[in-house]
Amino acid sequence: MSDIVLKEVSKSFGAVSVLDKVSMHIQSGEFIVFLGPSGCGKSTLLRMIAGLEDVTEGEIHLGGRRVDQLPPNERGVAMVFQNYALYPHMTVRDNMSFGLQNVGTPKPEIIRRVDDAARMLEITQLLERKPAQLSGGQRQRVAIGRAIVRDPKAFLLDEPLSNLDAGLRVRTRLELAQLHNRIKATMIFVTHDQTEAMTLATRIVVMNNRRIEQIGTPMEIYSRPATRFVASFVGSPA
Ligand code: ADP
Ligand code: MG
Repeated sequence: MSDIVLKEVSKSFGAVSVLDKVSMHIQSGEFIVFLGPSGCGKSTLLRMIAGLEDVTEGEIHLGGRRVDQLPPNERGVAMVFQNYALYPHMTVRDNMSFGLQNVGTPKPEIIRRVDDAARMLEITQLLERKPAQLSGGQRQRVAIGRAIVRDPKAFLLDEPLSNLDAGLRVRTRLELAQLHNRIKATMIFVTHDQTEAMTLATRIVVMNNRRIEQIGTPMEIYSRPATRFVASFVGSPA
């Protein structure tokens, strides 16, 4: 099992505390959405799980192993960034292969995995292009493909839809839900968009002001908000 456990995780930047004793247990295969207003610490929490940011206090466990002191590539997670963070000088295939080359995966295996992921995401015809020759939606797929080829225990997605136009955002949202159904990996998805949270999550983690306000299924969060903040943020009936 590859459950993710956060134990009283806190984060400060210098003297400024941005997360205060966040604890939760994410079960393998869940689609977890961190939902909250801008600045509440969602990205910082995700980056700490990914290993891109140090934990100030507390512990992070993945699959029964403490990982908060491990480098990012030893944690078994893959991050998809809001701005996609593709290498502009590399082709799509090279962008998707790069992480696997770094960990010494044999070349035929890399080719097979990239081809499989490209087929799943319907980007096979784009493999020899450079990022500048792609639309926003296509870049988004490549960024997801780059995560898929690593076969991670968890996908960490930081506002992955926010740079897409409205129509494409809805379509990509549905595709992400299908992808989750198909590959059954854990997804942790950060957003400030209530609709995305309500439609994607198996459980929503509502965050505000350095803390978790409530954890629950979309129905629980909507129909039984635990705090006034949750009620107003998700627009529950008064
Ligand atoms: P969110 O993703 O919910 O919008 P962030 O996790 O990006 O929030 O930021 C939480 C808080 O931490 C904000 O007040 C932000 O300004 C601060 N912060 C984030 N990264 C840094 C950093 N590298 N140095 C100092 N402050 C930071
Ligand atoms: Mg953020």
